[in-house]
Amino acid sequence: MVHKLHKNDESVEALVIGSGFGGAVAALRLGQAGINTVVLERGRRWQITPAQNTFATPHNPDGRAAWLSPATIFGQPIDVHTGVMETLVEDGIIVLNGAGVGGGSLVYNSIIYQPIPELFQKVFPGSISYDEMDTVYYPRVHSILQPSPIPPDILNTIYYDTTRLFIQHATQAGFRNHLLELAVDWNIVREEINGTKVQSTIVGDHWWGINSGAKKSLDRNYLSQAEKTGFVEILPLHVAVEIAETSEAGYWVSCHQINESGEVVEQKSFRCRYLFLAAGSMGTSKLLVKAKATGSLPRLNDYVGKFWSSNGDTIATRSNLPPVSGKGGPAGAVLENFDDLDRPIVLINLENWASPEGTQQCLGLGLPSQSGTFTYDASTDSVKLHYPRETQLMVDTEKTYKTLDSKNAISTKTPMTEMKFYTPTTTNRPAPETDVVINVSSMRKTSQKEN
Ligand SMILES: Cc1cc2nc3c(=O)[nH]c(=O)nc-3n(C[C@H](O)[C@H](O)[C@H](O)COP(=O)(O)OP(=O)(O)OC[C@H]3O[C@@H](n4cnc5c(N)ncnc54)[C@H](O)[C@@H]3O)c2cc1C
Repeated sequence: MVHKLHKNDESVEALVIGSGFGGAVAALRLGQAGINTVVLERGRRWQITPAQNTFATPHNPDGRAAWLSPATIFGQPIDVHTGVMETLVEDGIIVLNGAGVGGGSLVYNSIIYQPIPELFQKVFPGSISYDEMDTVYYPRVHSILQPSPIPPDILNTIYYDTTRLFIQHATQAGFRNHLLELAVDWNIVREEINGTKVQSTIVGDHWWGINSGAKKSLDRNYLSQAEKTGFVEILPLHVAVEIAETSEAGYWVSCHQINESGEVVEQKSFRCRYLFLAAGSMGTSKLLVKAKATGSLPRLNDYVGKFWSSNGDTIATRSNLPPVSGKGGPAGAVLENFDDLDRPIVLINLENWASPEGTQQCLGLGLPSQSGTFTYDASTDSVKLHYPRETQLMVDTEKTYKTLDSKNAISTKTPMTEMKFYTPTTTNRPAPETDVVINVSSMRKTSQKEN
């Protein structure tokens, strides 16, 4: 079923849906190639202001913290707003997504982490060359985001004592480890430390954006450069709802323009020659699965909506530690357990504002053994992800923590790690049947019941 064009359709050469990592890169390169491009982004803009209060903070949350939800991910009641973080409760998994101009970069931990070739090749098909990524594409991204590790003068402050401890423990336990490359402006962090900018990075206030402006989110590099080419227009608060192939060569996209409360204020449609789907792995999969089911993209193959995978993320709290209390972030160092390359585990310390003294928040990453499938329900015109239970990854991650903890025991204290379980309390959706394990990393959260 090929879509017929309508005279009210706006015409553009290229259309990009989503303005996160995928969409921002596409927009910049299209703009540089002189191709007229429109970027549809469902969320709003998040400009850092001199008042340094762009984002909601955990101590004083409001609607800016969550995408169209009456509660934050931690269950705090808020007004319904087109906030920066979406929590999707799917069947067997919870997925977190950024929402806004800049996508996931608004909420991410700024970690720019290049995999080793052996692991890259396990995940990506042979047609993508690691060597080419290593020599061309990773350096290209670095040249724009300019990530760097925590500089020594900042690492040595009290705000980063937990990172220092993590490195010390990883070394003591015999794991290779190093500081992470972070897309952070450390001069702004210095200003946070000397009191000329609002404290945000150094107090672990990074979940819903960093108010001091230290985070190098995509709206401030790729997207602003794309707009400067003069060929790229970004339309915030535009939600793509349907995509179709047209009878002429090209595509048709229908979207809802919404206000900051999420109400539809206008229906719009676009036709384009080139269509780039960059609505995140959830948003893009949902658009494609619907298009496949309704026949609006008749050439899609049967793999659409299958083999979706989590990032293999877990969250944990280490406790019983020496009296460290720094919450400096948005991340610190990584410990790499690559003893078995079929089941690699890395742990990263990610402090946040809520960590009591003597504790440490960590993120684990591994290769998930499961994959999920999306289904379309015509009666509700909605798409749902179904994700099976993941246990091996949890066992492997826990094992690495056990080694880390036991090798750092002193006569009076043994560090302990508890893998964390959350029950999201967003009230606009049915509660999940099980407790849900946060499995973050690209802040994907896998859900399983604790064994
Ligand atoms: C809390 C958190 C922390 C993270 N930390 C890190 C980290 O430190 N390092 C790292 O490498 N990765 C991290 N990630 C993961 C990383 O953010 C994602 O892998 C990355 O953002 C994916 O890029 P993307 O372009 O596919 O999607 P996104 O960046 O999610 O962009 C998709 C965009 O599409 C928009 N969109 C969705 N649906 C529609 C629609 N129908 N119409 C219009 N627009 C739409 C969304 O609002 C969003 O802006 C983190 C993720 C989260 C949630």
